[in-house]
Amino acid sequence: MNVDQLMNELERKHPGEKEYLQAVREVLASVEEVYNLNPQFEANKIAERIVEPDRIYAFKVPWVDDKGEVQVNIGYRVQFNNAIGPYKGGLRFHSSVNQSILKFLGFEQIFKNALTTLPMGGAKGGSDFNPRGKSDAEIMRFCQAFMTELWRYIGPETDVPAGDIGVGGREIGYLYGMYRKLARENTGVLTGKGMTYGGSLIRPEATGFGAIYFLEDMLKTNGQELKGKTVSVSGFGNVAWGAALKATELGAKVVTLSGPDGYVYDEAGLDAEKIDYLLELRASNNDIVSPYEERFPGSKFFAGKKPWEVKVDIALPCATQNELDGEDAKKLVENGVICVAEVSNMGCTPEAIDIFLHHKVLYGPGKAVNAGGVATSGLEMTQNSMKLNWTREEVDAKLHQIMHSIHQTCVQYGTEPGGYINYMKGANIAGFMKVANSMVEQGVV
Ligand code: GLU
Repeated sequence: MNVDQLMNELERKHPGEKEYLQAVREVLASVEEVYNLNPQFEANKIAERIVEPDRIYAFKVPWVDDKGEVQVNIGYRVQFNNAIGPYKGGLRFHSSVNQSILKFLGFEQIFKNALTTLPMGGAKGGSDFNPRGKSDAEIMRFCQAFMTELWRYIGPETDVPAGDIGVGGREIGYLYGMYRKLARENTGVLTGKGMTYGGSLIRPEATGFGAIYFLEDMLKTNGQELKGKTVSVSGFGNVAWGAALKATELGAKVVTLSGPDGYVYDEAGLDAEKIDYLLELRASNNDIVSPYEERFPGSKFFAGKKPWEVKVDIALPCATQNELDGEDAKKLVENGVICVAEVSNMGCTPEAIDIFLHHKVLYGPGKAVNAGGVATSGLEMTQNSMKLNWTREEVDAKLHQIMHSIHQTCVQYGTEPGGYINYMKGANIAGFMKVANSMVEQGVV
């Protein structure tokens, strides 16, 4: 494989799909060397096959808002690769959603899901529907209209969607209700379900908790500990909430949160009440973090700015792709950051990652750090198949063990001759090898 040649070809076929092309280039560059040492990959054109999704469904979602006006959105499901298990990945509802973003997310999901050790393929879906300011009734009508089309393409052994940005427990409930009515079955086709209809304990917390378990391992392996460290977190959604909750519980001090409107600096650090407030803030559906300043005196809101200018030991991007760029990375390094762990998918730009690797900052890529979310979705699928529920402790112990195993795999494949662990390389190689070998064994399909 020649990465530049392959990328030129892909750029020609998919012009302008910048997030997708960015994600593909990162993975191919990481695996190039090991790929070329395994002639069976080239013989089976694994690289050319793995970068194209199996199929993409795109459909119109018409619905009626509270004023009686007809609205039209676009819905998608990108079924990327099911070599190791049914397609699996979340649904994102956000105004920025387009095919490039869902292809990048679906592509990342292949390797993330492979790292979890569970049998799940990669997929992603969603819509350009913007939940901001929508009423509960509007959210329900939109979810129902979306599922009216999507239900034909998914199934418990075919494709199992879940949540992502803009899709939480409430949306999964409305989506599941419509699926169940149309398919006339109760087989747990979505994950992230409520506890009254087949959900798993710990699933809401899992992405954030898993990320902190992974972070603990990163620090420990490098002679550090989480207790007493200052941490900046971006975002204030489900992922930021889970990460802040676990980091605080383990003795770290979380000093920032952010939204599309700017960031909040809280020198005293988050506590249980402040973390609970995040749920309230999110439920308001306004997508702004600034009300935090008024609610908690002593904190300060910085309009239009990102939290990466604050001096911290650890930075946790928890919001969205490319939220931390080269300039932000420089500031963090100047301020002595020791670890940056992406809890969002592809939270750092390639320039930012280069700076972290160059300065030997511990950098954890999203596909390893945030894999606890989808791993716990996998555990929800297992419980649904067995038609029983595990306790909180059981699920948490399994999540913990999966995160340890992902960390161990990254160390195995990513340790450089000088001892520095390149987690990006480790995660990409380990995830890729598993899927690529599985594709070789199953022939050209
Ligand atoms: N959207 C989450 C992710 O990026 C979870 C996917 C799932 O649970 O299927 O991994």
